Amino acid sequence: MIVDVLVEINIGKKDKTFSYIVPDNLIDKVDIGKRVLIPFGRQVIEGFILDIKKETSIDLKEIIDVIDEERILNDELLDLGKRISDMTISNLVSVYQAMLPKGYKASKKSNVKDKLVGYLRVIDFDKANSFVNTSKAKKQVEIVNSLLSEDIESKYFNSQTIKSLIDKGIIEKYYKEEYRLKSDLNEKVVHELNPYQKEAYNSIINSNKDVVLLNGVTGSGKTEIYMKLIDDQLKLGKEAIMLVPEISLTPQIIDRFKSHFSEDISVLHSALSDGEKYDEYKKILRKEVKIVVGARSAIFAPFTNIGIIIIDEEHSNTYKQDHNPRYNAIEVAFLRGKMHNAKVILGSATPTIESFARAKKGYYELVKLDHRANNATLPLVNIVDMSKEIRKGNRLFSRDLLLNIEDRLQKNEQIMLLLNKRGYSTYLMCEECGEVLKCPHCDITLTYHKTSDMNRCHYCGYAEKNNHKCKNCKKDSLKLMGYGTEKIEEEISKLFPSSKVLRMDIDTTSKKGSHKEIIDKFNNHEADILVGTQMIAKGLDFPLVTLVGVINADTILNLPDFRSCERTYDLLSQVSGRAGRSSIPGKVIIQTYNPDNYSIKLSKNHDYEKFYNEEILIRKKLYYPPYSFIALIKVGGKDYKYSINEASKIGDYLRKKVDKEIILGPSASSLSKINNIYYFEIIIKYRDKENIIKLLNEVKLLTENNNKIRVEFDINPSNF
Ligand code: ADP
Ligand code: ZN
Repeated sequence: MIVDVLVEINIGKKDKTFSYIVPDNLIDKVDIGKRVLIPFGRQVIEGFILDIKKETSIDLKEIIDVIDEERILNDELLDLGKRISDMTISNLVSVYQAMLPKGYKASKKSNVKDKLVGYLRVIDFDKANSFVNTSKAKKQVEIVNSLLSEDIESKYFNSQTIKSLIDKGIIEKYYKEEYRLKSDLNEKVVHELNPYQKEAYNSIINSNKDVVLLNGVTGSGKTEIYMKLIDDQLKLGKEAIMLVPEISLTPQIIDRFKSHFSEDISVLHSALSDGEKYDEYKKILRKEVKIVVGARSAIFAPFTNIGIIIIDEEHSNTYKQDHNPRYNAIEVAFLRGKMHNAKVILGSATPTIESFARAKKGYYELVKLDHRANNATLPLVNIVDMSKEIRKGNRLFSRDLLLNIEDRLQKNEQIMLLLNKRGYSTYLMCEECGEVLKCPHCDITLTYHKTSDMNRCHYCGYAEKNNHKCKNCKKDSLKLMGYGTEKIEEEISKLFPSSKVLRMDIDTTSKKGSHKEIIDKFNNHEADILVGTQMIAKGLDFPLVTLVGVINADTILNLPDFRSCERTYDLLSQVSGRAGRSSIPGKVIIQTYNPDNYSIKLSKNHDYEKFYNEEILIRKKLYYPPYSFIALIKVGGKDYKYSINEASKIGDYLRKKVDKEIILGPSASSLSKINNIYYFEIIIKYRDKENIIKLLNEVKLLTENNNKIRVEFDINPSNF
């Protein structure tokens, strides 16, 4: 017997499959979709079995071992991987690796294992009973007595005492496998759907379309509808996948799910340890759970009987992986939905323009939910023109915002302040010569972080101590310019010294569990004000928050991206949605230098459709999605001239092969140098999906042997 094994060698380049002989003792264990240990050159590595053949050979090496008991990639997932590899123009092995949590990847050496816990039990009850009645060894008698009623973890006892009992043949030690995440259940809480929710729910279950877009305002109770839909599927014996955009959201959602469903749920997101992820995945493989809640990669949960797939906050760009393989979990959801005949539910208060357009055209069922649950009202939004404030000397906080903060603090209510920039300052500039401090490896300004007193590059992670010296004129004249969340936290604490302030951004949440800690603290009203980046904008539900302040609404607007208005509108609506979620009405204050921009102006009235109608006109005029698809080819290399030359060749090749599609570039990318690599971009605006995907796969084949350049493909890039 021979197996074909896919290995991860030189990832990002070619896929490689090698054939090996299966020795007789392993024939029963091999199966397609399992990992094997193989000799490879002078190393021993892991790979996935993709094929099994009856034939024999004498020229091949033998596999060393079969790693998995169960198949970790079933037929559906193996096939899904092939389709994603084609769709995203990436290597098959990189797709399989992306589908699996670390402990299941075929790596050189994975050290995630089952967690085994040592227990003690009685093996000879006659002996044990007579020992208890006759022995004078008090400690030993005590242990045997307890073990006669139940097995106990061995770590609670002195090992010498245990050893002598084992030697006497009375007890034995054994190992039990345990999951690292405790599956404690919450007290059961189930809400009846209100009439609006019921109507939406009925429209969803009565729809004959594969995809439903649930466009419900923030706080309208979409999550309650999701749970009811999942209930229905569980009753049919089916499984459910629920995707949420960010780990910051999962603690609250999981709590609600645990209260609603009195059963164990698998949780998959990046804040878990490798061991925890491994266990959560294993629960699914073993069919011990029927629901998974997780971030992007949870779409690959190895369920075999999926009844529904729900994608909450579907507009979130976290569903698109921003490194290879650049897949979009929503597209994967459509593929899996089709395979399982399961509905896909996309939920959002502010869907992507593309999704809403598809819903309006009737490709998706459009279901609206315009009322907040619990009789809560949508918050009042005030837009403050900061160019007027700055003339009054108010640089960071407008008078309106400060007065409202003071008022809420007096009423003992809570406040959230959003600024979409982390760090203390946004850049450092020399007061003498005007030089701006940049990362030595990237074409990017460094950001000052006060807590660590470091200047950091947010792209490559480069960090240096801040010595206030200008690299150009060598004077001690570097000045902090701009401001980030760290600075807001400091200033607000100075202005309101008796209030408690928390901050949530990448810098305060890097430690495991710190997300949940901040959320719990704020939820328990141990703090009055929560300052944060867009991390605090989505999904969180704090009933006591009655004021939301947006420090600077223009951070996204100024990015050179055709989605910058859409992103701005999303962020403002989402963060506004955090205010007034219970009986006390909420207020939102948005500070901006662009009060007349439609994405800011229209966020006042919570009327998504009005925004959509404006935005879609611009998309049409400029031939942007949904009127075209976009693909991006990035060519990177250390040698500037060589790389641009190769990029031009690719551009020429494509131009020869298409007639109607638009091909732009190559041009230097907006972040033209990252980590000492120069990047050039070719942009394709197209309609004929199939043909372009085929062409790009050709380009991949033509360029993947060239080690001097790196060619990356991004279909429907989320940042552009
Ligand atoms: P969304 O997901 O649309 O933002 P949520 O599902 O988080 O909205 O609901 C907002 C709040 O209203 C939550 O605190 C939720 O518990 C509550 N809620 C929603 N629907 C109901 C209901 N039918 N009965 C009682 N409370 C509800
Ligand atoms: Zn850098």
